[in-house]
Amino acid sequence: LNELREATMSSKYHKTNEIDRSERATTENVMDPRTRMILYKLVNSGMLREVNGCVSTGKEANVYYAVRGDGSDAAVKVYKTSILVFKDREQYVAGEFRFQRYCKSNPRKMVRTWAEKEARNLGRLANVGIRAPRVVILRQHVLVMEFIGVDGWPAPRLKEVKFPSTTSMDRCYLELCVTVRIMFQSCKLVHGDLSEYNLLFHEGHLVVIDVSQSVEHEHPQAIAFLRRDIVNVNAFFRGRGHQHLFTLQDLYSFIT
Ligand code: ATP
Ligand code: MN
Repeated sequence: LNELREATMSSKYHKTNEIDRSERATTENVMDPRTRMILYKLVNSGMLREVNGCVSTGKEANVYYAVRGDGSDAAVKVYKTSILVFKDREQYVAGEFRFQRYCKSNPRKMVRTWAEKEARNLGRLANVGIRAPRVVILRQHVLVMEFIGVDGWPAPRLKEVKFPSTTSMDRCYLELCVTVRIMFQSCKLVHGDLSEYNLLFHEGHLVVIDVSQSVEHEHPQAIAFLRRDIVNVNAFFRGRGHQHLFTLQDLYSFIT
């Protein structure tokens, strides 16, 4: 905590000519002062007890394991303030009436929008009973959510799951098909980046994660994204030797 305080309070970060450096820090996997300050405040307020190791360092975000004030686990997803990474995400936001204030020229506003989008979409999933991390709190580009895993160990991604039988694989495939359908029918959302990397397997069930790029089913590209999602899903299960895949056409009709 003292380190955290010193780092965030240190006067050099308050000089305007240092802002570039602090912005850059996030892209280099070093936590930038802004992020540290947000986490510091969350700890100070008792919302979080501690923020521990990194669960995942990705292109767009880092995910940390944390302990909440009440002792329960949390995952803290910190979006990176890098313009380059988010450039190819424009297609998801263009045509989204929910994100008209998306600001391409301000990377900090931009990542805040992504975090906000993810929090809202997670909320929509939870509202209809789809397994997804519950949102704990959103602070700018820092999203605190329910930790999916055991004792600080994140649940395996679908990619890492070894199915004990063809029946269990079949059940998982069916569960995924139904989940995508409910997401479409009840949440009016298309995941947009559905794959064996963005599904966790926890307590015998799939948990949907990484929904910051998910779009309304009325988004001009929604159908294209949905088709890609379905192709990914079938390709994964085909690779695992699944014998009874639905055709893409049947799956598409079922979902829509
Ligand atoms: P990138 O694409 O840059 O890797 P990302 O945007 O894909 O980042 P996520 O997919 O949301 O980020 O999360 C990355 C990884 O962090 C996941 O694969 C998962 O292992 C872990 N993770 C994310 N959210 C949680 C959570 N709520 N509980 C446990 N682990 C999580
Ligand atoms: Mn992901």
